[in-house]
Amino acid sequence: MLDLDFYQNIKKELANGQTELVAVSKTKPAAAVQALYDQGQRIFGENKVQELLEKAESLPKDIEWHLIGHLQRNKVKYIAPFVSLIHAVDSLRLLKEINKEAQKNNRIIPCLLQFHIAQEESKFGLNWTNAQALLTSEAYAQMKNIKIVGLMGMASFSDNQEQVLAEFGQLASYFQRLKEQFFAQDPSFKELSMGMSGDYKLALQQGSTLVRIGSALFGQR
Ligand SMILES: *Cc1c(COP(=O)(O)O)cnc(C)c1O
Repeated sequence: MLDLDFYQNIKKELANGQTELVAVSKTKPAAAVQALYDQGQRIFGENKVQELLEKAESLPKDIEWHLIGHLQRNKVKYIAPFVSLIHAVDSLRLLKEINKEAQKNNRIIPCLLQFHIAQEESKFGLNWTNAQALLTSEAYAQMKNIKIVGLMGMASFSDNQEQVLAEFGQLASYFQRLKEQFFAQDPSFKELSMGMSGDYKLALQQGSTLVRIGSALFGQR
């Protein structure tokens, strides 16, 4: 069930314009997306390529679709023609593939580097060393059809607010350091994608510019 009160309230909370809402519609029907679209929402996030394609096909063309989940290289080609932002780039190999498919579509695709900031074990996400290696690589220097516009991360799934706040703070500090080191002359490096239904208030305290919110808007999955 779409929670319109939550939507109106978070729109107010974000009214200073520094943070955008990504409405995460995964597992929810296209009708739910349309209902929120009718309230004025334009940015939607999906974590699976197939589901994103099906929804993009049937819904209004001015929706900005964000791929927020792990992306397999062999699926990049399907979203390259239209995706607005890819949140979870965590390897040079994936970035190369995105660059290649973007080139075929004559586009520059905005991407975020995903960092691993949670305590939980995960296969996904860069650490500081990996990110340095990626950004100083010759291959990255040659890429003309991608643009890294910021970072993304997921905090631990935990009730410990201090912990979650510290993890978002860690991501914010990676962002600042990379900005100084690699993007000082590049105003488009400005996005910090962090915060979900359960922890977005903490993410906002640490300077989130994109909150990715699903269940609080669309109901439990
Ligand atoms: C599902 C998902 C979200 C939204 O989670 P909620 O807790 O439902 O708000 C945010 N980010 C990513 C990467 C997700 O997969």
